[in-house]
Amino acid sequence: MKPPLLSLGLEGLMTWMEARNWPRFHARQVWHWVFVRRCRDFLQMTDLPKRLRQELADHLDCFSTRVVREQRAKDGTCKLLLELRDGETIECVLIPEQERRTACISTQVGCGMGCVFCASGLNGLARNLDWWEILEQLLHLSDQLADPSRLTHIVVMGMGEPLANLDNLLLALHWATDRQGLGLSQRHVTISTVGLPAKIRQLADLQLSYHLAVSLHAPNDELRNRIVPTNAHIGIAAILEAANYFFQKTGRQVTYEYVLLRGINDGAEQARQLGQLLRGRRAHVNLIPFNDVPGLPYRRPSDAALAEFMTILRQYRISVTARKRKGSEIEAACGQLRRQAASRASQTALTTQPTLVPASTG
Ligand code: SAH
Repeated sequence: MKPPLLSLGLEGLMTWMEARNWPRFHARQVWHWVFVRRCRDFLQMTDLPKRLRQELADHLDCFSTRVVREQRAKDGTCKLLLELRDGETIECVLIPEQERRTACISTQVGCGMGCVFCASGLNGLARNLDWWEILEQLLHLSDQLADPSRLTHIVVMGMGEPLANLDNLLLALHWATDRQGLGLSQRHVTISTVGLPAKIRQLADLQLSYHLAVSLHAPNDELRNRIVPTNAHIGIAAILEAANYFFQKTGRQVTYEYVLLRGINDGAEQARQLGQLLRGRRAHVNLIPFNDVPGLPYRRPSDAALAEFMTILRQYRISVTARKRKGSEIEAACGQLRRQAASRASQTALTTQPTLVPASTG
């Protein structure tokens, strides 16, 4: 099988050129065609010698992933189902909003964290994505934009735990933010994590400007252990310490995500506990009403419970927003997309993935 172009990296492509007696600068041209001009076919790279175009096509695949389904909601939200070389499928989403064009991307096939309300982890972790599989999601989503529109923001909130695949994520984000890649601002990238303290510190030490969001979901360990089972061997205190460290090192305020599950963590008492826990920190709370997952027993909070939760947090002087619903018409079909694809490939492990979108602020 031919190696995927991106897996070589720009340096690797230069070496590839040299080994074939082509000048190294042709590698930069190819990179420009792919990242800036959104060309997906070597033969169309018209400022390269014809013989080189053919040689590239003979030896490399432009992409390792292909779009097998695409769904568009009336609000412009667009969800893509991508097939990987081994037949696995992942989803990624484009969310256009006023001046923003946000890509929501996956880092793993499945997830090993086991959060009880989340569809991605229902069947555990299949594998980590390679960095070019993460990057290709961004390129496929860019292809959905009319020229000259570009992606402006990235949220790493699709399938998987990003910090459990940090090396691949960082390489993908390097090319997402590099001037020779997609050129996004690091400040416009949000990495959402279940809260892995050692990895949060490792990320902080790199002194990059990525934004960190921690999925807290509960104000005490007893409740968090029930909702986020992996918390049993981590604990909220260690996560908050690591988040403090992240803030000290990067100067970037941490966002705490809190999925509201009716009757489980959405009460006034939990809001007060959360207020006490986060009071005095440079923190922002993003409340996420639960998105229905077929087969799971959880429900969204009532509007009144959501409003009261916000009011209480504000009494503790905590900045708080509630996540807006986007792409809701395609949301329900999301699991179906993967299910159909999975049955075509006669796989038995089926997962669904809800549409996860960022709040419009923050
Ligand atoms: N593993 C990372 C990324 C997960 S997706 C993390 O844990 O943060 C991003 C956010 O969506 C997380 O806060 C996750 O808990 C939340 N989420 C997952 N399933 C959801 C659902 N059905 N409804 C609402 N939010 C959900």
